[in-house]
Amino acid sequence: MSVTQNLSEVLNKIRASEKAANREENSVKLLAVSKTKPVSDIIEAYNAGQRLFGENYAKECADKARELSEAGYKDIEWHFIGPIQSNKTRLIAESCSWAESIDRVHIAERLNNQRPDSMPPLNVCLQVNISQEEQKQGIEISQVLDLSNEISKFPRLKLRGLMAIALKTDNRDILLESFRRMNEMFRTLQQKYPDIDTLSLGMTHDMDEAIAAGSTEVRIGTAIFGARDYSKKASA
Ligand SMILES: *Cc1c(COP(=O)(O)O)cnc(C)c1O
Repeated sequence: MSVTQNLSEVLNKIRASEKAANREENSVKLLAVSKTKPVSDIIEAYNAGQRLFGENYAKECADKARELSEAGYKDIEWHFIGPIQSNKTRLIAESCSWAESIDRVHIAERLNNQRPDSMPPLNVCLQVNISQEEQKQGIEISQVLDLSNEISKFPRLKLRGLMAIALKTDNRDILLESFRRMNEMFRTLQQKYPDIDTLSLGMTHDMDEAIAAGSTEVRIGTAIFGARDYSKKASA
């Protein structure tokens, strides 16, 4: 299967999940997660209409963003979704439209200070840990309001919502339960801040549950670009 065919199938699945959940058509955006994949794959997806791309490694993201911009693909919206190290914030502030994996004030402050004046404010989401012990990234759901309060003070950042990675499980009830808790927090946040409109939930294996529970953006890599091969590549 080609990237073009995969993309079309994923979009069909998103539309079917929206319908099954009685959600409005096109209420869920697709972020194509292109980490470790070559620029040629991104161009194929772009030519099929895709504009939102997600990356996990700051250097790889900045390199791809520059290469594609120079090649004339100027309307790609880059979302950074990986763990953010302090020494990589400048690359992200200068090349991305979004950073969805904010879990510390210190990182947000650096992104705010390094966001170029020539660019609009960086859109940010707070990453919440809903997988219990499985990941290290992300804050507890009980910390969301405090961190939101801090981040809403930064003029070069625009707080847009929440992001989470679910527990790796095929248990639909567990997935739905943790995604619904996120949606509750998302709605609480929406009442406090005007720009909150993004609940980034769902990957290749749990996209349908995420949409059923209110996700507004699914982050899909494998189903579009195929399995990733990490053997050839150093991270970060
Ligand atoms: C890699 C990654 C994805 C995409 O995962 P797939 O299972 O390949 O769809 C989504 N979100 C984050 C944060 C990721 O790191």
